[in-house]
Amino acid sequence: MWARRRFLETISTLPLVGGFIGTSGTLGTVLAEGAAEGAAGGGVAAAAKNGSDYFRDLGVRPFINASGTYTAMTASLMPPEVMDAIQYASKHFVMLDELHDRVGERIASLLKCEAAMVSSGAASAMMVGTAGVLTGLDREKVGKLPKLDGMKNEVIIQKSHRFGYDHAVRACGVTLVEVETREEMEKAITDKTAMMLFYNNNNSVGQIRDEEFVKIGKARNVPTMNDCAADVPPVENLWKYTAMGFDLVTFSGGKGIRGPQSAGMLLGRKDLVAAARLNAPPNASIGRGLKVNKEEMLGMLVAVELFLKKDFEKEAKDFAARAEEISKAATSVAGVKAEVWVPEVANHVPHIRVSLPADKKAADIVKAMREGDPSIAIRNEGEQLVMSTWMMRPGEDKIVAKRLKQVLEAKA
Ligand SMILES: *Cc1c(COP(=O)(O)O)cnc(C)c1O
Repeated sequence: MWARRRFLETISTLPLVGGFIGTSGTLGTVLAEGAAEGAAGGGVAAAAKNGSDYFRDLGVRPFINASGTYTAMTASLMPPEVMDAIQYASKHFVMLDELHDRVGERIASLLKCEAAMVSSGAASAMMVGTAGVLTGLDREKVGKLPKLDGMKNEVIIQKSHRFGYDHAVRACGVTLVEVETREEMEKAITDKTAMMLFYNNNNSVGQIRDEEFVKIGKARNVPTMNDCAADVPPVENLWKYTAMGFDLVTFSGGKGIRGPQSAGMLLGRKDLVAAARLNAPPNASIGRGLKVNKEEMLGMLVAVELFLKKDFEKEAKDFAARAEEISKAATSVAGVKAEVWVPEVANHVPHIRVSLPADKKAADIVKAMREGDPSIAIRNEGEQLVMSTWMMRPGEDKIVAKRLKQVLEAKA
């Protein structure tokens, strides 16, 4: 199996510093340690510093991520600077609320908003943000959720903006009121309306666009929330929507920003973020289960700092070149077509879509890639293969390209 074939190789063809931990499979593939990226533990089959190979011992098989920031695939890898901060934090006791305050202030200043808090992910930010809108600073109300006695109990959303993650809002006990037109929205706003929820990715499919949505909220004095979980790059989105006037904006910490996977951010109005904090740990509250430890909190801050310093132009070129490489390898196989495209809003980075000849099943290719050596995670949407290149470590695009070609060429 994959783990038994591990041995060290020196590779001169890959433009990387440091040593390489490789596997020689039947396919003669090499895995480059992501030294420049600092992937903890190195390449796919690398052991920890103490020699332990925890995942292998558990029978859990790591893979090259050619899919993207999917939670089910553990989304992203933290840079070494973030891991350093996490290590540092793990050695000290601090008061959780004091750290929460200071980290929140720093993030708010970096992201040009009034206030910020680290949550245990974007979904958690949606939940404690909604809870804060409902309770304000009233501790008695905090204790009552998800029962809404004496509180507003409706959240308005455009029908075309309904999404799986709105469960995080509904978890606070509110009812979602669906509208389509501006007129319907105006009519739906009553003294029961607690908040208006917007799904950033669907801006262009709803009849009420972001700026108009914010205007309606302001005019009627209803707080607005925008879920932007997966919406960096571009980096400017981190301040665009709070500047636009959304009262609360949520981001994932462990997707494109590459902070801890179980961290995220709630950005926005000071009074609402303070109220959200009351509904979050260490307080006994509806959000008590959404704990963020000191390590993740600091890791999130450092990930944001690092993200803001990134050379996005260079990175975009790199992601695009990787996509071209894989696309070219795919189309070199008879009957295979491929296109590179960049989604407009969420996961705004190069993706590759591969169309297969009729005798090949997409699910079989996905399975062969995952079960091969090295293991590579790609996805299929119907009969098309879909990949993205931004969660690959340096050099892995070449491995994916080569392996994909082999699998596509294999006789069924
Ligand atoms: C990923 C995602 C979430 C959840 O984010 P977590 O940080 O994993 O909690 C919420 N909304 C959207 C649109 C997402 O893509």
